[in-house]
Amino acid sequence: MSICLLISKNGKHKPIHLPHLQTVILGRGPETTIKDKKCSREQVELKADCNKGYISVKQLGVNPTSVDSEVVGKGNQVGMRSGQQLHMVNELYPYTVCFKEDPSNSQSSVGTKRPCGPASEERELHREPHGHKVPRKTEDSTQCKHGGSTSTNTRSEPQTTEKTETLGYWSQGLKASMEDPKMQVYKDDRVVVIMDKYPKAHYHWLVLPWESIPSLKTLRREHCDLLRHMNQVADRIVQQQCPDAGLLHFRQGYHAIPSMSHVHLHVISQDFDSPCLKNKKHWNSFTTDYFIESQEVIQMLEKDGKVTVKEGTNELLKLPLCCHVCGMALSTIPQLKEHLKSHPYGRL
Ligand code: AMP
Ligand code: ZN
Repeated sequence: MSICLLISKNGKHKPIHLPHLQTVILGRGPETTIKDKKCSREQVELKADCNKGYISVKQLGVNPTSVDSEVVGKGNQVGMRSGQQLHMVNELYPYTVCFKEDPSNSQSSVGTKRPCGPASEERELHREPHGHKVPRKTEDSTQCKHGGSTSTNTRSEPQTTEKTETLGYWSQGLKASMEDPKMQVYKDDRVVVIMDKYPKAHYHWLVLPWESIPSLKTLRREHCDLLRHMNQVADRIVQQQCPDAGLLHFRQGYHAIPSMSHVHLHVISQDFDSPCLKNKKHWNSFTTDYFIESQEVIQMLEKDGKVTVKEGTNELLKLPLCCHVCGMALSTIPQLKEHLKSHPYGRL
């Protein structure tokens, strides 16, 4: 039988185990880290049915709990499945639910303390791309599709098994690619668009300003116009380069904690069909709140004059693998990739 986990979408705390058919009451308190007085200490009563793959959510508190924006109502009970979103109170504190194979019943390498935690695959992860070092060697001959072009590059992302002093050098790689005509797909007087060298989907470009802006942290209100231009350019590239742009879903955004220097907007199709997508960090960096929509970045700049990254964001990279379209939990990257074939356009 599978086990059920309630996962804080903003990565505030570890997943909460909901045992099969047992009532669990949650609300304000250390388990959820919620301190908001609007949230009762006994805000919701949850009961998972691992056989049927859903949880029942009963609102106990006075203020509204919601499932997919629909208020449950005090004393009422609704069902919730993978892919749906629970807001503990007042449309705040988002959670998703994940059903996962019970590690004690399987050969899975997932630890018992943290059922949806890092599998051995994850422990063996190299730090790249969220902490790059230098290429060890080109180790596989898989073709990486570059933004729909027919590149036959056999590059593999740099690995980190060799100790090296070249961390700084590696993180500067985008600056070299920006200047490389073979990598450029568009340029104007403010920005350049390049192919991502290790694309994580069928189409994956990076939009970079010529102006030297090291990271999201350096962005200020006066950059809003530039960021809007980057979005417009990205929209145009998608329309021009992608024949099924109408069908295929794209997202534009920034990694909350980028590994590469020089601000870069990811423009990425949601098929995630790429041999370069190899591990949980890659996956979670594009499918959790680690990926900040460009609109959200612009809004933060307009409102606060700077971009703030939430505490605990790095933990999002360790979340269990869940399909970005339907929310289904998958144990391994190969299983995830197989499942993704059912969503060729990256949406339902
Ligand atoms: P991040 O810094 O996490 O936002 O992501 C950096 C992105 O740059 C990743 O998607 C890498 O695949 C990509 N990348 C790494 N090195 C290069 C390079 N030299 N040229 C182009 N893209 C690169
Ligand atoms: Zn799915």
